[in-house]
Amino acid sequence: MSLAICPGSFDPITLGHLNIIRRTAQIFDDVVVCIMYNSTKTKPMFTIEERVEMVKKVVAKYPNVTVETSSGLLAEYAKKFDNPVIVKGMRAASDFEYEFQMNLINKKINPQLETMFLTASEKYTFLSSSVVREMASYDADLTGFVPCEIIDEIEKKAKLWRR
Ligand code: ADP
Repeated sequence: MSLAICPGSFDPITLGHLNIIRRTAQIFDDVVVCIMYNSTKTKPMFTIEERVEMVKKVVAKYPNVTVETSSGLLAEYAKKFDNPVIVKGMRAASDFEYEFQMNLINKKINPQLETMFLTASEKYTFLSSSVVREMASYDADLTGFVPCEIIDEIEKKAKLWRR
């Protein structure tokens, strides 16, 4: 059985993330979406529980996709699986530099661990969670940026944030 891990902070999940998850689920038998949270990142918009709920809602249609969380190092987390492959989306040259460095660090910690990259869909190369947070803070229409099932929740949270 092949298994892929799609890691990220998903704060919140966007259509760009979902595109990578869906394509990964077509290639691998099983996919674990791992929501990573750590103290070095700036304060998240959504709690880890809220992010889990949103991701679960939008991946429910993919039977081979499950959702987990980890606050530790990805390379350590991956050790609990048999020959997992990390799958990440690659948007631009700026993603490449960071991902290349992360991949080397992961290899130092867990030499068996392989990372594969899927190129971002042209439609979503501009899209990131931070763009969504910014747009939500200006009350902009999020259609086409995030899955429609979670638009209400993001708008509600953005209203609280603006206060
Ligand atoms: P973000 O960069 O949006 O804050 P994450 O840290 O949650 O997102 O990213 C998790 C993974 O998803 C990374 O591999 C990232 O390259 C990928 N990703 C994020 N946005 C997109 C997108 N629009 N298209 C393809 N991959 C993406």
